[in-house]
Amino acid sequence: MLITLKEAAEKIKAANKILITAHVQPDGDAIGSTLALMQMLQSLGKPAQIFIDDTVRKNLHALPHFEEIRRPVDGEKFDADLMIVLDTSIDRLGNVRKLTDAPILNIDHHVTNSGEGVELYVEKKAAATCEIVFKLARELNATITPDIATCLYTGLATDTGFFQFSNTRAETLAVASELIRCGVSPHFISEQLESKSLAEVRGLSAALNSLKMFYGDKVAGMILDHATAKTFDSTEGFIDEIRVIETVDVAFLITEKAPNFCRVSMRSKGVDVSKIAARLGGGGHIRAAGCTLKTTLDEAEKILVAAIGNAIRN
Ligand code: 5GP
Ligand code: MN
Repeated sequence: MLITLKEAAEKIKAANKILITAHVQPDGDAIGSTLALMQMLQSLGKPAQIFIDDTVRKNLHALPHFEEIRRPVDGEKFDADLMIVLDTSIDRLGNVRKLTDAPILNIDHHVTNSGEGVELYVEKKAAATCEIVFKLARELNATITPDIATCLYTGLATDTGFFQFSNTRAETLAVASELIRCGVSPHFISEQLESKSLAEVRGLSAALNSLKMFYGDKVAGMILDHATAKTFDSTEGFIDEIRVIETVDVAFLITEKAPNFCRVSMRSKGVDVSKIAARLGGGGHIRAAGCTLKTTLDEAEKILVAAIGNAIRN
């Protein structure tokens, strides 16, 4: 059921012990929005605990209060009267779903989120969930401390490719500006986020070496096998290196995270890749989407290239 931001704030005000979560394979927006909301709730005297059922890439570990994020252990239960799900629909929470039966409040900006079975505040034009959490702070009368601002700015920066992508609006920059006023240091955050391990740069090199072009050079793809992918923790930004090819409309990266578990990232300049991803069991935004294909790498490539081919022909 769709609700307003005001109604979302009322639900939060009425809750006493809150579990906060976001999607597996968490990005800067997932981690930034959960950490910011946790600090806001704590400042209002509401106990709040973040659970994320995945590892988090190293660049995000320096965010304020990162060490308070927990990963659920097998069979664990958590006593809460509200679960807040940020930056995703409820199908990408891993074992966090099993921690509590508390009602779910879902706050998100993905076009593919239909809000089935939950109370959902979705703002599809918001560049990042962090942009929505910024507005939520106003509804809750929570002060944006420098630490909270740092977390929110990180989500804005990562989801907009540092304010370059088409989701960057005047409102996005107005929020970023306000966050800088609240104490954010943009260059510090950029330096944290751009830092890569040697293995990651070698991984990028391997990915670029795998470049293949399809459909008259309109589609560019890269593949990372498990042996290479397991040596580093993030492929963030890899796909942007081929998205820029002048003839390319759709770019993809397939990463074999484990045998028969291939993660797919897609970016586009026009085609709605969220529809392609949704057809393959995933989702996302018009120009940035993803899914998981539980097949071999070769099979994943065949399935994906065919699905993209169908979309660009229509
Ligand atoms: P990325 O390629 O950066 O992993 O993801 C691009 C966008 O698509 C992000 O907004 C991400 O949350 C979304 N996305 C990626 N994979 C999936 C998926 O398996 N399911 C859904 N629903 N969204 C996804
Ligand atoms: Mn996001």
